[in-house]
Amino acid sequence: MVSLHGGHSGEFCEHAQGTLRSTLEEAVRRGFRVYGVSEHAPRSDDRFLYASERAKGYTVARLGREFDEYARASRVLQREFRGRLEVLRGFETEAVPRSGYAAEMRALACEHGFDYVVGSVHHVKDISIDESPAHFRAAADACGGTDALLERYYASVVGVIEEIRPQVVAHLDLPKLYAPEGAEPPGPAARRAAESAIEAARAHNCILDLNTAALRKGLREPYPSAWLVRLAKDAGVPFCFGDDSHSPGQVGYGIPRARLYLLRLGVETVTVLRHTSEGIRRQEVDLTQP
Ligand SMILES: [Zn+2]
Ligand SMILES: [Zn+2]
Repeated sequence: MVSLHGGHSGEFCEHAQGTLRSTLEEAVRRGFRVYGVSEHAPRSDDRFLYASERAKGYTVARLGREFDEYARASRVLQREFRGRLEVLRGFETEAVPRSGYAAEMRALACEHGFDYVVGSVHHVKDISIDESPAHFRAAADACGGTDALLERYYASVVGVIEEIRPQVVAHLDLPKLYAPEGAEPPGPAARRAAESAIEAARAHNCILDLNTAALRKGLREPYPSAWLVRLAKDAGVPFCFGDDSHSPGQVGYGIPRARLYLLRLGVETVTVLRHTSEGIRRQEVDLTQP
């Protein structure tokens, strides 16, 4: 059991529950060897606050303070769990505002000495696409339709890969969460945009997050869908698992099913990051061994 994307906790994320410590205890209990925690980067402008955050009076200043506290707490817990669980300290990027996000994300990575970065895009045309169906529709309308949204989304993923060089690329086809039925696979232009994102991941040596949050939210397939897994596999891009947990109860959710999914699509290894005497290094885990 390994995961490189997850460990969001109620301590440092408004839409998560539980403490980071209880999440890591649960990872130990569930037999994880390596567990990457990747709290959301703080958004830097109040217009990007989620409705649920606004309702509770959150400000970007508070997001920033909580993130600093996450950076400190994760370092303490990493040390505390040593010998029981290899904790990797990371964070999940935002790609807003379009001008300036890359410098902000690079500064966060540097300032807090994170082990790795999870590259994510949650906004298209500055509108969040995974907050609610209404938000997704607003973003699609702003783009001129679902396929046009997908094109822009994948172009942003390429931007994140090229600008931030994340080790892991998160939930590659996140827009499918609220995309209308039948939007998948998308039309030719959006497909080409998705192929470009996979090509960028290959060129920059990224690992793709086989993310089980989609299963938890009732979708048929995890992120990414089978057609994208096949493209990535043919391009030689490796995968890791991400439970994208937002509470201790979600730790490890869907990973056994995700393993079978990858095996069915001919992917026989996942890649994890490990601490070594030479710094963070990759290691392959064989999925064919039960
Ligand atoms: Zn989240
Ligand atoms: Zn995400």
